[in-house]
Amino acid sequence: MRKLVAGNWKMNGLTADGVALARDLAARAKATPPACEVLLCPPAPLLAPLANAIAGSGIVLGGQDCHTEAKGAHTGDIGAPMLKDAGCAYVIVGHSERRHDHKETDALVRAKASAAVAAGLCAIVCIGETAAERSGGRTEAVVVRQLQASLPLRLGPAQLVVAYEPVWAIGTGRTPTPPEVAAVHARIRAALRDLVAEPAGIRILYGGSVKPANARELMTVADVDGALIGGASLVADEFWAIAQACG
Ligand code: PEP
Repeated sequence: MRKLVAGNWKMNGLTADGVALARDLAARAKATPPACEVLLCPPAPLLAPLANAIAGSGIVLGGQDCHTEAKGAHTGDIGAPMLKDAGCAYVIVGHSERRHDHKETDALVRAKASAAVAAGLCAIVCIGETAAERSGGRTEAVVVRQLQASLPLRLGPAQLVVAYEPVWAIGTGRTPTPPEVAAVHARIRAALRDLVAEPAGIRILYGGSVKPANARELMTVADVDGALIGGASLVADEFWAIAQACG
């Protein structure tokens, strides 16, 4: 299975620096095509200029969120067909920052993932436990419950990617150990058997403080099929080093 390395720029980047970063990455991808698939998820206003900057490089584009409806009276929201129209192949749904900041529920995440798939996008559905849930021994129960309640049923590998992101590891510099990551990813893979069309083919990303220094170790863990990168995706050298570690 080809690994996926996705950069989530979050609410960072204006046109000049975003385009410069994307052009830098596109030049690297053209010079040395990476073994993994490389995805950039910039803020929505940068989608159009980035689509231009990465054209012909093999790098693909994604959104960071979408609405459950395709269009309509939803001020400030973005419909999945609009992301598709802007050149996206993917959209992240259910990131912990949206679950927390915008009180997004599993049911809402499932509806967003369905909308993404209906628009022809691949949904990257994020799950992960909080620090309190981990210290309470509830990690696996939490991620399985999130999967069961957040995934539309019977999606295939072209429609769904799962991103396991422990909330306590995001932006903190802390990560689970490789055996801890392996245990959760194995549990996710097992849970997918009842939920998706081809459980062995669904990519399961790890996300949370992935850096060049830990990428190779994390990316060689069984059932880790790529990475979702926040902070390090804003620095070309770091993001590219992680993409190479996935190869
Ligand atoms: C993220 O927010 O998806 C993420 C993984 O962030 P960071 O890499 O900065 O921990």
